Amino acid sequence: MSAKKASKKTTKKKSVKAAKYSYNFGKKTDGSAKLRELLGGKGANLAEMARIGLPVPPGFTLTTDVCTYYYDNKQTYPKTLVTEVKDSVALIEKQLGKKLGAAKNPLLLSVRSGARESMPGMMDTILNLGLNDKTVKALATESGNEAFAYDCYRRFIQMYGDVVMGVQAVNENDHCPFEAALEKLRKEVGVEHDNELTAANLRELIKRYKNIIKKRTGSAFPQEAYQQLWGSISAVFSSWQNERAILYRQKYNIPSAWGTAVNVQAMVFGNMGDSCATGVAFTRDPANGEKVFYGEYLINAQGEDVVAGIRTPKAIALLKEEMPKVYADLESVRKKLEQHFKDMQDFEFTVENNQLYMLQTRNGKRTGLAAVRIAYEMVRERLINQKTALLKIPADSISSLLVAVFDPAAVKKAKALTTGLPAGPGAASGKICFTAEKAELVAAQGGRAILCRVETTPEDLRGMIAAEGILTSRGGVSSHAALVARQMNKVCVCGASEVIINYGSRSLTIGEKIFSDGDDISIDGTTGEIFAGAVATAPSEVDQVLSGKLKAEDSYTYKIYEQIMKWADKHRKLGVRTNADSPEQASSAIAYGAQGIGLCRTEHMFFEGDRITYMRQMILATDEKERRKALKKLLPFQRKDFSGLFKAMGGRPVTVRLLDPPLHEFLPHDESSKRELANSLGVNVDVISNRVHALHESNPMLGHRGCRLGISYPEITEMQARAIFEAAAACYKLKKPIKVIPEVMIPLVGFADELKNQVAVVHRVANEVMTAKKVKFKYLVGTMIEVPRGALTADEIAETAEFFSFGTNDLTQTGLGMSRDDAGTFLGKYKDLDILPQNPFASIDVDGVGQLVQLGVEKGRKTKPKLKLGICGEHGGDPESIQFFHQVGLDYVSCSPPRVPVARLAAAQAALK
Ligand code: PEP
Ligand code: MG
Repeated sequence: MSAKKASKKTTKKKSVKAAKYSYNFGKKTDGSAKLRELLGGKGANLAEMARIGLPVPPGFTLTTDVCTYYYDNKQTYPKTLVTEVKDSVALIEKQLGKKLGAAKNPLLLSVRSGARESMPGMMDTILNLGLNDKTVKALATESGNEAFAYDCYRRFIQMYGDVVMGVQAVNENDHCPFEAALEKLRKEVGVEHDNELTAANLRELIKRYKNIIKKRTGSAFPQEAYQQLWGSISAVFSSWQNERAILYRQKYNIPSAWGTAVNVQAMVFGNMGDSCATGVAFTRDPANGEKVFYGEYLINAQGEDVVAGIRTPKAIALLKEEMPKVYADLESVRKKLEQHFKDMQDFEFTVENNQLYMLQTRNGKRTGLAAVRIAYEMVRERLINQKTALLKIPADSISSLLVAVFDPAAVKKAKALTTGLPAGPGAASGKICFTAEKAELVAAQGGRAILCRVETTPEDLRGMIAAEGILTSRGGVSSHAALVARQMNKVCVCGASEVIINYGSRSLTIGEKIFSDGDDISIDGTTGEIFAGAVATAPSEVDQVLSGKLKAEDSYTYKIYEQIMKWADKHRKLGVRTNADSPEQASSAIAYGAQGIGLCRTEHMFFEGDRITYMRQMILATDEKERRKALKKLLPFQRKDFSGLFKAMGGRPVTVRLLDPPLHEFLPHDESSKRELANSLGVNVDVISNRVHALHESNPMLGHRGCRLGISYPEITEMQARAIFEAAAACYKLKKPIKVIPEVMIPLVGFADELKNQVAVVHRVANEVMTAKKVKFKYLVGTMIEVPRGALTADEIAETAEFFSFGTNDLTQTGLGMSRDDAGTFLGKYKDLDILPQNPFASIDVDGVGQLVQLGVEKGRKTKPKLKLGICGEHGGDPESIQFFHQVGLDYVSCSPPRVPVARLAAAQAALK
């Protein structure tokens, strides 16, 4: 069972004991940051901020247990909830001297969602609740601003009408009926902006809004405050299951069983005049991690206006001049938040008549680059210790330090057309796509898409996932595009105001330059620059240092990378090897810290040049003589390959797996390659066609591959063993000998006797080579455990094997009975239905395939307590799987070279957890 699922169970158990559903915050605070599972992230942190004395408007949180109850009981509530809500409202009323629904001093509330992990913009929100035909008058009097009061009221009716009563556009071509009415009125009275409407105009608009609701739903907009409150609470709980939220949860593996909490809080107004403002800020720069106060605000605006990107907000530094006292208060809040939460915070604030209020704080979403830098710098500032720092960095983030940048020479020539806000680092180029669907299409066809939108909304999520990069013309660094891109580690440039996007004509204009749908464009998410065409990319600074092109002391990024890797290496128990089939791959993996090769797939060595022809000759041979002829041609290539690998690895362990060619990958399919092969063999093309036909397998992945091939044709095993040992012998004879200890690995073993059969051939050849070359060296012969029978009989297999390496790709394929080539056709549905929340070929199925691994470990070590154990399937580079491999006691994981740094960090995290 996954950790996430398990922890929900605990919550459920707890909730049986605790029948409390509403947690207050303000002068009296019931909750704290510790109750995140119950109160959601927002609720828990509102409580925590209230506890540490920050100015939080009072309110209360309805727990995630209410949400669970709601869905388990046909969308109804626990009996005691009505009284609890009344009591909580009364507590707010008492603190503020206001009353919900009263004609004098009316209390106005906001109702917001708040899941355990933040899901920005995915669920619904209601503001200005409590306004009705009477209370609006009181608000007008108290604020001294009639237009403001009626504007709040019309906004409330619009939100309530939309979210609670379902009055929305009927299809994609329809407009939101409220927006249409608003626009019509603006035209009638001849104003351009909403804020130019008078109180009288707004009263008229409210009348029209109410008519729309009545006409569409048959019901009147409710005047009674508690009815409004319950309608809003139910709408927010219901929005947990809206399409956007479901998609978001799938992307981030958030279990639907978690549910959301609902926060009800006294309203404060940032839109009551010029002494009011609203904003969002980060305690550090979330794009690059730099320790600067980072954020933006709008004077005289409501919170949603900043995030929606409708008005481009001002940088927080300007607030120092516009509202010096508020700025000073914010600076001290910034410090206090980091000191208390020991992490970078992303917070929302509102200023009402020069008084600062905190509406939310949470650990800020950040790019991978920022995550690494912040953790590193917080250790240096003594805010956190090394271990905490390692645990705070999502292991995948290390990849962001290795992402491509634009090639300096190419970018010099390219000349930036304009600059937007850098919101997601890295360089990306691709085809301009104006819609999410188009981006998905381009990506599905193997192309690279840059999703270009005026601003993104949660509807664009699919396209953002598919795109290489995201470009928006409107919205700040906290806009939807920026937040989501940062979290997805996508290259993103946002708020590029000189970019004019016209969806109608499918064109994008920058100055004089006009681009169309499908044209190439390049964006730099580190600098914000935008270039025409496809600009070539270049390796990251880390890669440049590792390859000697840049001095280590000239790169701060490298310094951070090196330090984090050192800390990780100090704590991890798992070794990290790499899957590499060429000296280049091997060298790059060593630079990334690989300690050996865990898998050299020898069949991959045969794709180049003439080799594929000899390989095909070998596969198609009808008798041993023909096969030996082809093998003889392959031997020198193999010997050279192994020698290259051994030299590149400089004495580190190298596991060479004997040939495992699923036949369909190697047979010629089309007529021209059949003809080519026939020519090279001097036979008729029909001979080839007949042989291909004879070798055709219905299930090539379950066919004549792995050790089955070596058992049928021992001469193949013999040739490969000879190449390995001759290359090793040569290494011992170098002037500066390299002490290679080759590890020969037999694939797809399910029976102890299969292994015995192949090991006998390997030992015989080893002796022959050592005698012939007059050199003695150590070598190991082991096996892959990659079919269930291999795991189940691992005790017998271990009698012959000197090591195991779990082939979790095939073990998943055969353990689940799902084709590793075709499972994609239905895994999407499995994810939608939560049957398999993660792709089991990417992240190990702990409950099922994990048991096979565990059994293999236990049985293998029962026979040989010191048996060396590794894993070389794709899961070897996946952080969650690495945690599992650590727990079951493997010695090492092996992954592709670029995943090596990720695996090093993930292995340290597994050891520290
Ligand atoms: C495996 O099956 O996990 C493995 C590493 O081998 P291959 O992917 O080459 O079948
Ligand atoms: Mg395999």
